Amino acid sequence: MTKQNNSGQNNYGQNTQLVHGGINRTQFDETAETLYLTSGYVYGSAEEAEAAFDESIDRFVYSRYGNPTVEVLQQRMAELEGAEACLATGTGMAAIFAAMACQLSVGDRVVASRALFGACHAILTKILPKWGVDVELVDGRELSAWQEALSRPCKIVFLETPSNPTLQLVDLAKVSELAHQAGARVVVDNVFATPILQRPLLFGADIICYSATKHIDGQGRVLGGFVLGSEGFIKNELMPFYRQTGATISSFNAWVLLKSLETLPLRVDAQTKTAYKIAQMLDSHEAVLSVSYPGLPSHPQYELAKKQMSDFGSLIAFEVKGEKDGAFRFLNSLSLILISNNLGDSKSLACHPSSTTHMNIGPEERDKLDIKDGHIRLSVGLEDCDDLIKDLRQALDIIA
Ligand SMILES: *Cc1c(COP(=O)(O)O)cnc(C)c1O
Repeated sequence: MTKQNNSGQNNYGQNTQLVHGGINRTQFDETAETLYLTSGYVYGSAEEAEAAFDESIDRFVYSRYGNPTVEVLQQRMAELEGAEACLATGTGMAAIFAAMACQLSVGDRVVASRALFGACHAILTKILPKWGVDVELVDGRELSAWQEALSRPCKIVFLETPSNPTLQLVDLAKVSELAHQAGARVVVDNVFATPILQRPLLFGADIICYSATKHIDGQGRVLGGFVLGSEGFIKNELMPFYRQTGATISSFNAWVLLKSLETLPLRVDAQTKTAYKIAQMLDSHEAVLSVSYPGLPSHPQYELAKKQMSDFGSLIAFEVKGEKDGAFRFLNSLSLILISNNLGDSKSLACHPSSTTHMNIGPEERDKLDIKDGHIRLSVGLEDCDDLIKDLRQALDIIA
């Protein structure tokens, strides 16, 4: 169901749009977005029910397919991304899986960058091959690797930039061009960059996925996800798959995310400013062997980062002295920054990827991805920058 609202055709700026976009007030003229906590809908007559099912009228039928609160969220997200349409899902993984599975059949080829979130890696290397999909992983930084893999026909190119956990970049414009020549659609996991700092559609990508659990909620409360793309793709390909397989988000979680979108630009901006200062501090500390942050000129893809991102985000990867032992002693010495595998939160969170989020891919694959035993992934939150720097310094001094 797509209901007319008061914000669709205007030219408001991003902040305004994230506060008002998609809103659809009831007869009570409430200020805030309405939470429709209902699984189903009733009909005035048997004829109306029949018309709803044969789609001769456009109305809500069942909340697995659509819900008015979820609808407002989808519209607001589509406006933010500059996409024609959006579907919200229960988790980020539900979004990514549905976006690919709805397009694939036995014998199709997928080419993906190797540097991926752990669960995305598992979908590509364990689940899809079992169903007869041929998957090839490439070093996403190397255009020649993309060129070679895309010299044969391909259905989907899947990539993440910057990547989890070591913040490697993929050239969105060049890879999209190669993908389209091979007949593929480009699906981008844009979680690390957020919709505020990077708009892959502008560089030729076709389908954008998010885990809303990360920066979009950003306050550690609910899981959620989004798929964004053309109206034809969302309506005719994704929607039939989504309706039958049940990737739906609960309306309560959608309502929480609606309120989160109001403050997303403010939070991402504050986190990014702090992350830049922290990256500089880490770069100069003797206990740190290397820092990967796209905003540092020492990042090998700094020029590409400036081209396709408006700013460089809240995530930093760095390698400390002493390998796993050094990394564990560092983590255990933190007092303000929390140990957690989540990210994008208002609380700063640190984790050791090789023993947690990237444990299952094994040592050989970690080697290929440059994930070292001394690597820490830091998600910078909303605390005072000085407090975070003090905490990091004292923990680094212990292992220096
Ligand atoms: C967390 C995350 C996901 C998965 O999202 P969930 O909401 O946990 O299902 C996918 N990709 C990236 C890059 C992530 O950080």
